[in-house]
Amino acid sequence: MRPGRALGREPVAGPVSAATYARFEPVPGLTTVDLAGVAFYANAVQATPVYRWTMTGTYSPVQNFTVNIMERWRSSLAWTPTPQTQIVSTPRIPSVGYTDLTLAYQMTPGDSQLEVFFNIQNLLNKQPPPGAYLGSNGARFLPATVLPNDEFTSAVTRLRDALGLEELHLTGGEPSLHPRLAQVVHAGRDAGLRVCLTSNGENGARVMANCAQAGLDRVNFSIFGTTAAELAQVQHARYADVHRAEKKLRALRESVRATLKYGVRASANIVVPSYEHAPRVRRLMDEFAPELSVRLLNSLAEGAESVEAIETILSELGAVPFAHHIVAGASGWRTAYRLPNGRVVWFKRIRPLRLPRTCTGCPLNNGRDCQEGYYGVRLYRDRAGGYQVGVCIQRMDLCQPLDEFLASDLCQEIIALRDAEYGPLAVA
Ligand code: SF4
Repeated sequence: MRPGRALGREPVAGPVSAATYARFEPVPGLTTVDLAGVAFYANAVQATPVYRWTMTGTYSPVQNFTVNIMERWRSSLAWTPTPQTQIVSTPRIPSVGYTDLTLAYQMTPGDSQLEVFFNIQNLLNKQPPPGAYLGSNGARFLPATVLPNDEFTSAVTRLRDALGLEELHLTGGEPSLHPRLAQVVHAGRDAGLRVCLTSNGENGARVMANCAQAGLDRVNFSIFGTTAAELAQVQHARYADVHRAEKKLRALRESVRATLKYGVRASANIVVPSYEHAPRVRRLMDEFAPELSVRLLNSLAEGAESVEAIETILSELGAVPFAHHIVAGASGWRTAYRLPNGRVVWFKRIRPLRLPRTCTGCPLNNGRDCQEGYYGVRLYRDRAGGYQVGVCIQRMDLCQPLDEFLASDLCQEIIALRDAEYGPLAVA
């Protein structure tokens, strides 16, 4: 304990405690999972920030009366221990601090001692960053790797027929690490769908020739940094190592080149939390050919600051908007801008769409906990067998086995929402 500066009758005393994370040592024969700086893991393992500190200050303005202020802070967190799993719009759960206030009055009636106190936790009403529900999102199944077999083709085809789908979008984990990605693409094409994927570019250079041959239409690259230092800042703790980050960036560049070389369309999704990220956007455009379609995404965690930063960057680039694209029945919305040199840049945002019946009564149905809204239908392979259909990444408890989903009101609700939106949009 170190005494602090005197403010009144009694000095402020400021004990500070800090904690770093526990490291799980490997047990021979078992896989080590490093949970340092990770928010969520299986079996309800709790968040373990890399740094956490608590500081208290006590002030006694008059005899027997004390004012105690406590500040609690933790560092930012990765969502999961697997760097392949990324939440594109919010790469990390931001750091956060809370202030608590306790007012205490000591009394000595007779021979006894009595203390009356009044405590306010989170005095400044700091809103915690969204994230809590995703880690314990109620999934009733364990997902397994999709295999390019008849069962997959049949699942995709049935979903296509029920919902009138045109596109199959492969996400992860990291799809480029799938050992049979080209066959999965092929199966999707066989089901009559346009096949795209979202990738961090980890292994794209090696698999792109075969994927292109199988009919892959487009790759959306998630760009978390354009220099190793930037990438190290936002990535999982293991990429805080700049050399690893450099290797990862090299792989991303090679993947983008390979994608364009084999005639597959490529786009880069880059989240812009604030204007400080303007150099990152410019570097991205300087570094890659105009064939790489750049999409600026606002950060949901940073709200208006992020939107204003993108608008400023676009204005400084002399970008002129020329088209709006709104997807009926999903929260996607993007505006195309043309730069003076002819290059097209997109501003991609989320509109807070809700499923009219399913989202009503959802405990997360508010502007803070559910910023992404209803984004579309997701198909998962269940490790216990069969496929599951989900409608919300935060509410995995809403997933249903494919047969049940196809016969459900939820399926009809999705179709009705899309139809209801499509009419007015088509007229507009
Ligand atoms: S999309 Fe709907 S179900 Fe999902 S979290 Fe938001 S309100 Fe809840």
